[in-house]
Amino acid sequence: MEINLISDTVTKPSAEMLKAMFNAKVGDDVFKQDPTINEFEQIVAELFGKEAALFFPSGTMANQTALKLHTNPGDEVICDKWSHIYLFEAGGAAFNSGISCQLIDGNRGMITAEQVKEVIKDPNNFHLPYSKLVSIENTTNRGGGACYDIEELKKIKQVCIENNLKFHLDGARLWNALIAKKQHPKQFGELFDTISVCFSKGLGTPVGSVLIGDKQTINRALRIRKVFGGGMRQAGYLAAAGIYALQNNINRLEEDHRRAKELGAILKTLSWVEEVEEIETNIVIFSVKFPLNDVQVMEKFKEKGILIYAIGKGKIRLVTHLDYKQVMHEYVLETLMKMSF
Ligand SMILES: *Cc1c(COP(=O)(O)O)cnc(C)c1O
Repeated sequence: MEINLISDTVTKPSAEMLKAMFNAKVGDDVFKQDPTINEFEQIVAELFGKEAALFFPSGTMANQTALKLHTNPGDEVICDKWSHIYLFEAGGAAFNSGISCQLIDGNRGMITAEQVKEVIKDPNNFHLPYSKLVSIENTTNRGGGACYDIEELKKIKQVCIENNLKFHLDGARLWNALIAKKQHPKQFGELFDTISVCFSKGLGTPVGSVLIGDKQTINRALRIRKVFGGGMRQAGYLAAAGIYALQNNINRLEEDHRRAKELGAILKTLSWVEEVEEIETNIVIFSVKFPLNDVQVMEKFKEKGILIYAIGKGKIRLVTHLDYKQVMHEYVLETLMKMSF
C-alpha cells in the first residue's frame, strides 16, 4: 500500500469514471464539434450562472489566458505574493502577456480590499503601469487551502468597479471552498469577470480545467487558447470525466476535509511538531522543531510508505484526496502517533 499525500493531483480515474470516458461521443473540438466538450462547457457555465465556458488542458493555461484577456503588455495584475499565477506558473505573466505582478503581502494567500486600494496606480501618472486586473485564489494553494470570506470578495469587487479593473478568480480548488463554506457557484459567478476551475485536483479527473465568463470574453479566450497551443481534437473523453466528476465527486470533498482536520489534530499532539497551520479544507501545512528539518521528516514518512511534500524552511505539506481512503487514513494516523525522532 503506497500512500501519496503529496498533492490532490495524484489521483487516478476510477473504473466508473473510465467507463464514462470510454462511452463519450467525440468530435473535433478545434472546429467546436465535440458534443461532449460542448455539453461540459455549457453545464459548467450554467452552474456558475455565466454565459460561456471553455475547456483547457491545464489550470495554468486557463489562468494565463485570463491574464492575456484582461491586460496589454506593460500593464500590471494585482495579486498576493504567493499566487499561483505569479509563483508557480514559471513567469508566464511576463512571458505570455508582458505584464508585471503588483504583489500584496496577504494573510495565508488572501488579500483585502483595503490592500488592493493602496496599490492601485493613478492612470493619469504616465510614469506608472496601468493597473488592469485583480486576481485572487480560492482556496489558496501555498496559503494552505484557506477560504475567503465572501464579504471581503464583495468589497474587492467594489474597488474593482470603482477603478475600472477586471476581477479574476483562480479557482483551481474552488470546489473545496464551496463545500467547506456551503456556498453556491453562482455566488462567485456574480462577482468575477473570469473564473478558472480545475477538474484534475479534488474532483479526480486525469486532465482538465475550465475558464468561465461572458460570451464575448470566452470568444476571445478561444483565440488565445489557440495561440497558446491548447486547441485539442477528440478531447471529449476528458470532458466526460469532468461531467462524471461534477455528478459524483463534489460532495465527497467533505471527507477529504475531515481527514485533513484529523491529521492536524494528531500532529498538534506530537513533541517534534512546532506548529500546525489552520486547516479549512484538504491541505495540511505544519512545521517541525529545530534542529529537525522537513527533509528528515519526509524520509521517515517514506520509510513507512507515506509520500509527503517538504516545502522548505522546516515546513511540510500533506494533501488529502479521492484516492486517500479510510484504511490508509487509519494507518497514517497510527503511524504518526508512534513516530519519533
Ligand atoms: C494547481 C493549481 C493551478 C493549475 O495548475 P495546473 O497544474 O496547470 O493544472 C492553478 N492555480 C492554483 C491555485 C493551483 O493550485
